[in-house]
Amino acid sequence: MGRVTLAPRMATMQESATLALNARAKQLAAEGRTIYNLTAGELASATPDYIQKAVATKLSLNKYTPVAGLLELRQAIAAHARQFYGLDWIEPTNVVVTAGAKPALYAALLSLIGPGDEVIIPFPAWMTSYRPLVELAGGSVVTVPLADNYDLDVAAIAAKITAKTKAIIINSPQNPTGAVFSRQSVERLARALQGSRIAVVADDIYTKLVYADNFTPVPKAGFERMVIINGFSKSQALTGWRIGYLIADTDIAQATTSLLSHITGNAPLPSQYAGIAAMEHGDQPPRATLKTLKKQRQIVMSGLESAGIKHNIPEGAFYVFLDLRDLADDAAKWCERLLAEAGVALVPGEAFEAPGFARLSFTADEATLTKAMERINQFVAGEKA
Ligand code: PMP
Ligand code: GLU
Repeated sequence: MGRVTLAPRMATMQESATLALNARAKQLAAEGRTIYNLTAGELASATPDYIQKAVATKLSLNKYTPVAGLLELRQAIAAHARQFYGLDWIEPTNVVVTAGAKPALYAALLSLIGPGDEVIIPFPAWMTSYRPLVELAGGSVVTVPLADNYDLDVAAIAAKITAKTKAIIINSPQNPTGAVFSRQSVERLARALQGSRIAVVADDIYTKLVYADNFTPVPKAGFERMVIINGFSKSQALTGWRIGYLIADTDIAQATTSLLSHITGNAPLPSQYAGIAAMEHGDQPPRATLKTLKKQRQIVMSGLESAGIKHNIPEGAFYVFLDLRDLADDAAKWCERLLAEAGVALVPGEAFEAPGFARLSFTADEATLTKAMERINQFVAGEKA
């Protein structure tokens, strides 16, 4: 068969680096190698029981649902979000249910961003998909470094605002650092944007996975124009079920519904029932999830201390960001050697536009993490010798 000519937009398009690395680690394990896969952006636990039970009663249902999702689910999401964020304007008409948070992000960006528009993204960030999605929408990405403690640097963001700035993507808790942004910094950003036409896209996918006591979700900070992105992938261990949503003003809700009617149609019907079951459980992670993650975080923190690897202390999500600049001239190559020699898979910082760093996901069980940290320790000692 002859080869086709791909569209120019595919010239720089690559598969999500995090998904590709996770697949590679799983492939190596399937080939019989002992692999400690610390790349995954997903909980290790199975589908929560209450979701399995609820969905089992719905398997005979098979028809299209409204593109924006079942009314019962949109009502539950709206009621929960009104209360969680303290935002009275949220009604079911502001909610669009999607096949994961990614299509919610893409539809929101397509409906907001056009050629010539700029989107500010504080980084390191989940550039893995943020950058391709902004660029597919025709916009360009303007990056602004986070402060050294991984909080927002509002003055640096303000300095990058131009007449072309259309949106700012804010993700807290954050991928890849697990940092949560301080209440002061998000409120300062909200004040800086007052009276402008700039929309904040609040990627809140990790908002229910928080260890800090004083966490302020971004949508609570008083932004005038906002799209909230969320879903059940991370907090309900449902990454493969593809179920997320956005919350926005009705213009954006209608625009994104029209877009999605041509792209995905409705989110998978069983997954929408999973969402309803999650909401009936207060939209909290399954019992013990946070406690387990905290223990796993502790194992990783001590392991990194003894290996002498610089790192932050994550306050949310399930990632820690390793600063490898003192250990390696090329951190991506260091990660390759770590995988080849020690069987430990991390995600190099390049995926987050932060060369010199690597992301470690601590969702694996305690035994796996303990062993992986031993391997990392031995590897670092061996490299120094
Ligand atoms: N936002 C962030 C910050 C993420 O890490 C992810 C992980 N995939 C997503 C959005 C997308 O989530 P989903 O799997 O629901 O599409
Ligand atoms: N967001 C997750 C991660 O960063 C899942 C992978 C992906 O969607 O790219 O690992």
